[in-house]
Amino acid sequence: MPIPKHAFLLTVAGRILALLLCTLFWVSPVLAQAAGEGLLTPVRLQLKWTHQFQGAGFYIALEKGYYREAGLDVRILEGGPTMDAAQRVTNGEADFGVGSAGLLVERVKGRPVVAMAVLLQHSPFVLLTRTDIGPPHVHALPGHRLMLETHAEELLAYLAVERVPKDKLTVLPHSGSVEALIKGEVDAITAYTTSEPYDLRVAGIPYQVFSPRAAGIDFYGDTIFTSERMVRENPAVVEAFRRASLRGWREALSNPDAAIDLILRTYAPGLERQRLLFEADEMARLMMADMVEVGYMHEGRWRHIAQGFAAAGLVPGDVDLRGFLYIPDHQPDLTWFYAAFAALACITLAVSLVTARFRKLNQRLQAEVAERTRLEAHFRELATVDALTGLPNRRAFLDKAQAELARSRLTGTPLSLLMLDIDHFKSINDRFGHAAGDASLIAFRSACRQALRDQDVMGRIGGEEFAVLLGDTGIAGALAAAERLRASVEGMGTDVVDPCLLTVSVGVAMLTEGEGLDQLLNRADRALYTAKMEGRNRVVMG
Ligand code: GH3
Ligand code: MG
Ligand code: MG
Repeated sequence: MPIPKHAFLLTVAGRILALLLCTLFWVSPVLAQAAGEGLLTPVRLQLKWTHQFQGAGFYIALEKGYYREAGLDVRILEGGPTMDAAQRVTNGEADFGVGSAGLLVERVKGRPVVAMAVLLQHSPFVLLTRTDIGPPHVHALPGHRLMLETHAEELLAYLAVERVPKDKLTVLPHSGSVEALIKGEVDAITAYTTSEPYDLRVAGIPYQVFSPRAAGIDFYGDTIFTSERMVRENPAVVEAFRRASLRGWREALSNPDAAIDLILRTYAPGLERQRLLFEADEMARLMMADMVEVGYMHEGRWRHIAQGFAAAGLVPGDVDLRGFLYIPDHQPDLTWFYAAFAALACITLAVSLVTARFRKLNQRLQAEVAERTRLEAHFRELATVDALTGLPNRRAFLDKAQAELARSRLTGTPLSLLMLDIDHFKSINDRFGHAAGDASLIAFRSACRQALRDQDVMGRIGGEEFAVLLGDTGIAGALAAAERLRASVEGMGTDVVDPCLLTVSVGVAMLTEGEGLDQLLNRADRALYTAKMEGRNRVVMG
């Protein structure tokens, strides 16, 4: 059933309105953000170490504009071996930091740090030693020089659990590189499995790795954190930073080569690509992104870490984790929903427009088809009907005659033919003009029709020549009809032509056995000729 036009327009208008509304919904946060582009919130991120793959996700988030999209203007501050990121974040020199599980110890010590997201599901923290320190176990360390970085609580816990007294070691500040170990200036260093083993391997120095995991200490590694004050005063900024950073990390993990390119280009041009590739591989292993959502942390695991620190005597046994674990704002991110909704609305609109266009085209096509059909009928009529008298023309008459002939043969009924020619018609034209001649032809036709039966077929087969087929009519009936017709014409007249001036001569022939149409026509024609010869205005049988 065709939809009324106004209903269709209403549907389209409704769809456009829906589209505008949802576009507005979708776009408004973006617009608000664009309007505030100049008003991005400046925040500082304090890295734990010097620039290397360890900061890849943050660099990517900055480079790809994830922070800007989140309304943040992020400055990334390089760290180092003596960097106390927890201190910097809690005293306001930075807003966010990257720390180790030792953050928990800091918290217990009274620094209001809040863990926001865990990047490394297992810690890369280890002790690296030269092989010449003695037997290959951690108990060989006493009496040796250890280069210890700030916030190596996890390793201190390891030594404590292994009952390696710290005061039996010569603890030196960490220089940030393996150089001192290579040169033999120190015997052991705190290190990350993600970096330093590579440097030692390249330098060809044999080394030993002592991991806290050997003592059952399996802590979280790099953890993004902030201060309690930030969480309290700028929760939206904290959430935005967390999301954009984790987005950057997901991207860095899925495309480490691009992250390495960026690091070499912008952050640490002096590093070797191979070293960064090694680090990226190691980090990916520790992030376990194929199994654990990037950034995931669990209270139970933190509690286990707290117990580990407690066992080493670094924290009391009853650590209160409240306030230490950031609870993400679980408001669903509706960006995709709005995007999908807007896309759907666009598609619906496009489909509506295309449908409307097709409907219009279809209507036009239908109108054209109707017009063409009408014209065809018109031309067909023109081809078969005489325009002046409305009678079948010569061709149409002959077609009908053939059909009548066949019918007559089939049924065995008689068929007769009259050939008519108006007498002295030329002189009518000459005397009264061509228009009067036309009018006479029309009047002639009417006079004939009055004298004929409905089923009799009359045609105009020449200028002022006509023919009539009389079905079911023998010669007697045909002669009677011809006479009736002749008399009818004789008695007629027009406005300008006197009745006595218009007469007709008629040749009559009846179809005989085995005769064709041409022969029948010839006989009637010859009879007509005879009628002319004999003085016109008469009927002659052929
Ligand atoms: P006859 O009695 O021998 O038939 O004489 P006639 O003048 O009728 O015969 P002729 O064949 O010489 O002339 C026929 C004339 O009919 C010539 C032509 O101008 C005229 N005529 C033919 N068709 C039309 C027409 O459609 N309109 C008009 N006005 N005249 C026509
Ligand atoms: Mg003639
Ligand atoms: Mg004539």
